[in-house]
Order: sequence, then C-alpha cells, then structure tokens
Amino acid sequence: MDVKSFSSFISCLECSECKTIHDHTILQSTCTQCGKSLLVRYDLAGVKKSLSKDDLVARGRHLWRYRELLPVQDEGNVISLGEGLTPVIPLKSLGKEIGFSNLWLKDEAFNPTGSFKARGLCLAVSKAREHQIRDLCIPTAGNAGGALAAYAAAAGITAHIYMPQDTPEVNIRECHVLGADVHLVRGVISDAAKAMSEDRKADWFDVSTMKEPYRLEGKKTLGYEIAEQFHWRLPDFIVYPTGGGTGLIGMWKAFAELDELGWIDSSRPKMVAVQSSGCAPIVKAYQRRAASSEFWNDASTLASGLRVPKAFADGLIMKTLYESRGHAFSVSDDDILQTIQMVAALEGILLCPEGAAAVAAIQQLRDCGAGPESSVLLFNTGSGLKYIEVLQQLGL
Ligand SMILES: *Cc1c(COP(=O)(O)O)cnc(C)c1O
Repeated sequence: MDVKSFSSFISCLECSECKTIHDHTILQSTCTQCGKSLLVRYDLAGVKKSLSKDDLVARGRHLWRYRELLPVQDEGNVISLGEGLTPVIPLKSLGKEIGFSNLWLKDEAFNPTGSFKARGLCLAVSKAREHQIRDLCIPTAGNAGGALAAYAAAAGITAHIYMPQDTPEVNIRECHVLGADVHLVRGVISDAAKAMSEDRKADWFDVSTMKEPYRLEGKKTLGYEIAEQFHWRLPDFIVYPTGGGTGLIGMWKAFAELDELGWIDSSRPKMVAVQSSGCAPIVKAYQRRAASSEFWNDASTLASGLRVPKAFADGLIMKTLYESRGHAFSVSDDDILQTIQMVAALEGILLCPEGAAAVAAIQQLRDCGAGPESSVLLFNTGSGLKYIEVLQQLGL
C-alpha cells in the first residue's frame, strides 16, 4: 500500500430493510432483527473534510484508492492482489455496426482470478482477517469460488467452496490449485447453498452474496471508478449482467455516497439488468413491476454466473431498477454465442458469456429510451478465457 494515513470512515452497519443500526466493530452477517442485508455506513461529512476527488489522482491504481470509503480499518489486514481500476474501453467498431456512437466497455477481465468477483471477495477476506476468522464458506456458480480461494490463500484462511458439479472446469480446478476445500454438488447454486448449510461448522463465516455486508463494499468501487473514469459525469445507461445483483446494488450505493460527498450531481444512469432467458427471475419480476422475484425452476444457461434462480437481495435489485427508471432484459444463449464471436471479430475482445449477454441486450435498450448518441456503459464481468466449454460450443 502506498499510504501512511490509512483511515476508514466506517461508522456503523444499517439494515437495508428495517434500518436497525448494528455495531461495525463486530463481524456481522445479516440483520439480527429481520434477516435482510446489512449496508456499511460511513461518516461522509468526515470524508468530505479530509478527502477531495483530486487527491485520488496520485493514488495506487487499485480499489484501495477509495480506502476512506471502505470498511477495513487496519492497513495490516488488507489482502490485495491488484484488484480494481480496470480499463474502460470505447467500442467504436461495434458501436458503428449497431448504431451507437457512445458505447463503452468496463473490462473486468483484468481483475485477479479473471473476474470482478475479486472486488467483493477481496473486501470480505480482508475484513475476515480483521476479525480473526479462520474459515470462510461460500456457495458459488464458479467465479466467486475462485476469487475466495485466491484471497483466502493469500490470507492464510481456509475456504470451503460449494459449487455445482457442472461449473466450468477452470473454476473447479483453480479452486483446487488455490488450496480450497472444494465440494461439488448436483444442481445449481441454490443446491450448493443447501449442501453447505448441512456441512457448516459454527465457526465458518458465510460469505454468500448479500448475506454479509463487505462484498458489496468491494463491488461498489465499480461505481466510484466509473464516476472517476467518466470525469464525474455518469453515463446515461449502465448495462449489467445480473445474477445475485451485487454490482447493481453496489453501484447505486456508490452513486448515493458520491452525491452526498458533492462529487457528482443528482443525475443518475438508468440501471439495466440483463439475464439469460434460461434463468431470468429478475426480468420476470420487472415485467410484473413486482417488488421481489420468484424462484426460477430448472435454471439453465451457458452464462454460468447468471444461473441464480433466486437472488437473496432481489428486493434491493428491483428497487435499484425502479429508482433509476432502468429496465431488465433477457437474451438467449444463441444471442450470447453470436455476440462473443461478433465482439471478438470487431473489437479483439474475448467476452465472457455474461458480458456477452449485456452486449447482446443493447438493441433492446431502445425500448427504454436509448438513442444513437446516448452514452452506454457495458460490463465484461470476467475473462472469456475461463470458459473453455463455451469456446468449444462456438465450434471454430
Ligand atoms: C457473478 C457473475 C456475474 C453476476 O454478478 P452479480 O453481482 O452476482 O449479479 C456476472 N458475470 C460473471 C462473470 C460473474 O462471475
């Protein structure tokens, strides 16, 4: 780390639902009153006095540049593998082809372990170290397991990882090589969660999506980075391939914090969730204007990160979509495959299938008011190189 004065302005944990305040000096999972997700709160007035956005320019090119707005208090507990501050790449050729002149891709493939899951797990593992936790456990569709395994190895913590047996092979092998305790489960991530709850020892800390408050803090740095990289004027649309929804919820939280700091104005992007038509509970809920989603039976898609039949924090995902006047769209696996090939040929970028889903949804954006000059930010949430099975399906 490149700083002498490492200081977090964390002030408390607040329930996202019933607003009960919890002590941040104790490791917390969900709200003890209502069971919903907890959110980390900061003394933003204090941050405002001690930090200006210009101070960021000289800082390290990783997510710890926002340390005042992150929950880790002692620099000695930070486990960093170089996560964050990924590039935003203009998609000029693709934009020309499909009629968007202001199209951008935030390429999260540059993160450690090749996906943006590194952001969240970096924070969760660092915070676990701060609280002297020895064992962490997670149900995962793949990339979260790989990221946990890597940061846990670096921290000297044991990672217990539960994943579907048909998880992409690279994800399974990386977890083994990184020294995790790996369990393969028949079914999807919800079945992996069930198997984990049967095995779980009392002293294992569960870092399931949105069942602890720290991963969200890592993911929200996407929002800080976008603001910084777009010179504090946010794009018109942010298109996010949505599984558990951490990034969507996290960016929305980040924008509120930046607004309170006075670093951005009150205008906000429309937040757009994209799912695969083989597992689209959020899209279905959006179409009904529902406040939460229903469990999606027989979930199946080659975009394994989107194979989440029921997101724990679906209420917060829906709230983000409605508050931002965004939208939710689904795309087929065929669209995903075609898009991988098209973007590879036009831009030289090998998208992961989840990232390809976001790109494939662009034409549908016209339904929610996007014009040819709208600024649209897409996400490639991971490296296409982790998906050998998908590359094989392209049959080239
Ligand atoms: C987990 C994952 C997603 C979905 O992210 P959420 O924050 O859970 O919605 C998308 N793409 C990839 C590559 C992932 O690993």
